[in-house]
Amino acid sequence: MLESWLASRIAAGEVVERPASVVKELVENSLDARAGSVEVEIERGGFDLIRVRDDGEGMDREDALLALRRFATSKVSSPEDLNRIITLGFRGEALPSIAAVSHLELVTSTGNGEGTRVRAEGGEIVSSEPVGAPKGTTVTVKRLFYNTPARRKFLRSAAREAALCLEVVERFAAAWPEVRFRVIRDGREVLTLPPAPPRERAARVLGVKPDQLAEVDLEDGRVRIAGFVGVPEAALASRRGQHFSVNRRPVRSSLLSRAVEEGTRTLIFTGQYPVCVLSLHLPPEFVDPNVHPRKLEVRFADEQALFGKVMQAVSDALRSRTLIRTTRPDLTRSPSTPLPVAGQLQVMESPAEVVPPSEILTAKLPPLRVLGQVANTYIVAASPDGLVLVDQHAAHERVLFERLSKLRGREEYVQILLVPIPLDLPPAEAEIAERMKDVLHDAGFILSGFGEGTYLLRSVPSIAARAPLVSLVRACLAELASAGSMQSPTELAMRLAGIAACHSAVRAGAPLTMKEMVALLQELGTCEDPYTCFHGRPTLVSADVNTLENWFLRA
Ligand code: ADP
Ligand code: MG
Repeated sequence: MLESWLASRIAAGEVVERPASVVKELVENSLDARAGSVEVEIERGGFDLIRVRDDGEGMDREDALLALRRFATSKVSSPEDLNRIITLGFRGEALPSIAAVSHLELVTSTGNGEGTRVRAEGGEIVSSEPVGAPKGTTVTVKRLFYNTPARRKFLRSAAREAALCLEVVERFAAAWPEVRFRVIRDGREVLTLPPAPPRERAARVLGVKPDQLAEVDLEDGRVRIAGFVGVPEAALASRRGQHFSVNRRPVRSSLLSRAVEEGTRTLIFTGQYPVCVLSLHLPPEFVDPNVHPRKLEVRFADEQALFGKVMQAVSDALRSRTLIRTTRPDLTRSPSTPLPVAGQLQVMESPAEVVPPSEILTAKLPPLRVLGQVANTYIVAASPDGLVLVDQHAAHERVLFERLSKLRGREEYVQILLVPIPLDLPPAEAEIAERMKDVLHDAGFILSGFGEGTYLLRSVPSIAARAPLVSLVRACLAELASAGSMQSPTELAMRLAGIAACHSAVRAGAPLTMKEMVALLQELGTCEDPYTCFHGRPTLVSADVNTLENWFLRA
C-alpha cells in the first residue's frame, strides 16, 4: 500500500521541479481563468515566497476546496497506479502537487458574494474560511520544498532561480500581449508590461525597438503562423530571444528554432541567433499530446511541412524590408567616447575616369551616388537620407554568391579548367575528398585521383575561375571536415559556394576604380539579400542626416 501523501510528494517532484515551474503552473491557471492582469511576486528566488495574483474568474468555495483536494482524493493504492500516473502526466494536478511540497494559501472570489481562503500545509488542508476579496485569485506559496530536502539540493542560487522565474513570465508575456504582467522581486518591481499591441509587446520582451521587427503572418490551410522576427542587428549570441507559442502555450522547440534560423540564413552573422516572437495556431491534432506536461518541448505531426512553412514565413518577412544597418553613435554614453572620424576620403580619380555623379538606382537599395573609397576597403556613397559606407569585400562576396546561386543546375555553374591543376593532399584531406566526392561535384569541384595522394582539379564553380584555386579547394575540404553529420548535401554544397564567393571576392585593401565601385553597387542592389554577406556580416551601413547632426553636435 502506498500512502497517498507519499505518492503526492513523489508526483509533486515530477511536476514541480523548481520555483520557476510553480510560477509557470500558476500563471497558466490565471490565463486559463481569463485574467486581464497577472502579478507575480517572488522572494529569495521563490524559496521564501511565490505569489501569483490575477483578476480572472475566480472560484467559489466548493471549487476552491476541490482544486486543492483533487489529488488527495484520487485513489493511489498500489505502485502500479503510481507508475501509471507518472507516465501519463499530471494534467489537472498542478495545484495539489504544489501544495504537497509547500505551505499554500489560496484566496479566491468570483466577485459574487464572499470570497474563500484555503490554507494547506504539505498537501493537507488546514483551514478554509470566508473572506472579503476582490474578483480573482491569489495563490501564495511559502516554504517551497520544505519537506523534500533532496529536491532543494538540486537547485541553484536564489538569483539564478529568480532569473528563471522572470524568464517564465517573459515567455507568457510574449504570447499574451493583451494581458498586463508585473513581476516584483524581493520587494522591487522588476518588470511591468501593460497590455500592448503585439508588435510593441514583442519589442518589449525582446528588448528591441518596434521598427526592428518584421511582421510574420502566414495562413496556410488550418495553420497560422503570426508574430515578428528581428532584423539581423537584433540577433543574439544565444537562442534566448526566440519565443514560440503553440495555441498560446509558450513552448521550446528545436524544430522551430532551426526553421527560423534556416529562414534567416546568410542574413545573420555566424554564431548569432535571430530573435523572434512567433505564435502558431494549429488544430489540436497537429500537436503531439503525449508529451509530459512539465516539459516545454512539443512535437508536431508532419514536422517537415511545418518546418518549411515557418522557414518561408520568416524568410519572406525579413526579405520584404530594407535591412541596412544604421550606425548610431551614442554620444551621451561617455564623454571620452571618441567621435567617429571620416578618415581620409580618397577619391580615385584620373581624368578619363571621372564619372559624373550619376545615381545608382536599384530595387533593393536607396538611390546611391558613389563618392570614393576609404582605406581601399570601404566605398563611400551618398543616399538621399545621408551617408552610406559599403564593405567592398562583403558586398562583392554577396554579389558572387547570388550570381552563382542563380546558375545552379545550369552548365554555366562550373568552369572546366583547360589545364587541370595537380593538388597534393595530405591523407586526412584526401580521405575527405574521396568521401565527399559527390558534395564537391555538386558544388562544382571535380577532383580526380592521380595516385599517391595527388589529385587533379578539373573544374571549379564559374565565379572562382580567377581565385587562388589551391587554397580555395583546401578551404572547402577544411569546411567539409568540420561540418556536422546533420548537414544535408545541398546545405554543404551551398556552404562551399559561400567559400568560393569569399575566396573570389575583391579583398579589403584593394584599390577600386570609380567604374568598379559603381558596377559593384549596381549589382549589389539587384541581389535578393544585399544587406549581408554569406556569413551574415553587413555589406553596408548608413548614417542618416540625424546621425550626422549628432556627430557635429548640431542636434
Ligand atoms: P488544471 O489547470 O490542469 O485544471 P490545476 O491543478 O492547475 O489543474 O488547477 C485546478 C483547477 O483549479 C483548475 O482547473 C481551475 O478550475 C482551478 N483554478 C486554479 N487556479 C485558478 C485561478 N487562478 N483562477 C481560477 N481558477 C483556478
Ligand atoms: Mg493548471
